[in-house]
Amino acid sequence: MAFEGLTDRLQKAMEKLRRKPKVTEADLRETMREIRLALLEADVNFTVVKDFVKKVREKAAGAEVLKGLNPAQQIVKIVNDELTALMGEEAVPLNKAAHIPTVIMMVGLQGAGKTTTAGKLALRLKDEEKARPMFIAADVYRPAAITQLQQVADQIDVPVFEKGTDEDPVEIVRQGMEVAKQNHNDYVIIDTAGRLQIDEQLMDELANIKQLVHPDEILLVIDSMTGQNAVNTAQGFDDKLDITGVVLTKLDGDTRGGAAMSIRAVTGKPIKFVGEGEKMSDLDVFHPDRMASRILG
Ligand code: GDP
Repeated sequence: MAFEGLTDRLQKAMEKLRRKPKVTEADLRETMREIRLALLEADVNFTVVKDFVKKVREKAAGAEVLKGLNPAQQIVKIVNDELTALMGEEAVPLNKAAHIPTVIMMVGLQGAGKTTTAGKLALRLKDEEKARPMFIAADVYRPAAITQLQQVADQIDVPVFEKGTDEDPVEIVRQGMEVAKQNHNDYVIIDTAGRLQIDEQLMDELANIKQLVHPDEILLVIDSMTGQNAVNTAQGFDDKLDITGVVLTKLDGDTRGGAAMSIRAVTGKPIKFVGEGEKMSDLDVFHPDRMASRILG
């Protein structure tokens, strides 16, 4: 289960505090140390952990936690509030264009869940807004990628604009946009190519697509199982593309959770959705407060 180790350790630290008849300065220090270790073990970025613990400690001192009733309970609340703040405080909705179509560009490393998430998002827009999205297949490097997008699209009954693998992706996107405008599609979701690692050529291609269509959303799809790498990947994509949001996938797996807690703090970009399964309906809006409660168990 996701966050299992982290939840376990945080709960144990809090439980220890609760059992004390009186909480001392030394107990508080020990709890902070346990929280720090728990977060590091969950693959939360080192700097993020340092800042986090510092904030919790300052808040606890400011609130004179040790002098009040139920110091343990107060600490739990402070940790909960700071976790929520760390992950962005509020859910952030999708950006929308003033005039249709709203253009959403999906980017990310190969295997992160880009194509699957594109499908989930389209289904969500259809269900919630009666929207008429269209996909553009801009991954020309793997013929299987186009087939896969087509399969996803068939499941949810969404049209795909594709030109096979011989044309330049930027040109495909240009033509696709024309078609979407003619057909009055209210959303265009561009499925772009991924690589196993960030490379210059891919980034240039994505930057060229961005420059052509000025997307309302550049959603970076990140596999939450990739730990510290998730943060490096996010930073790499953000530096080059100035992404507008993140979708964290595979939260149904046994991720330790570091990515969920670090990405917002490191990139300043919101996590907008989380993927929690392989089915088209397995996409949820990311609520920082609910995620904090889930982590604390
Ligand atoms: P892409 O290469 O980035 O387009 O990645 P795909 O969309 O092909 O996804 C790669 C694999 O991850 C596929 O087997 C998906 O079914 C799976 N996948 C994507 N999102 C999730 C998720 O949220 N949970 C789980 N368990 N699997 C996912």
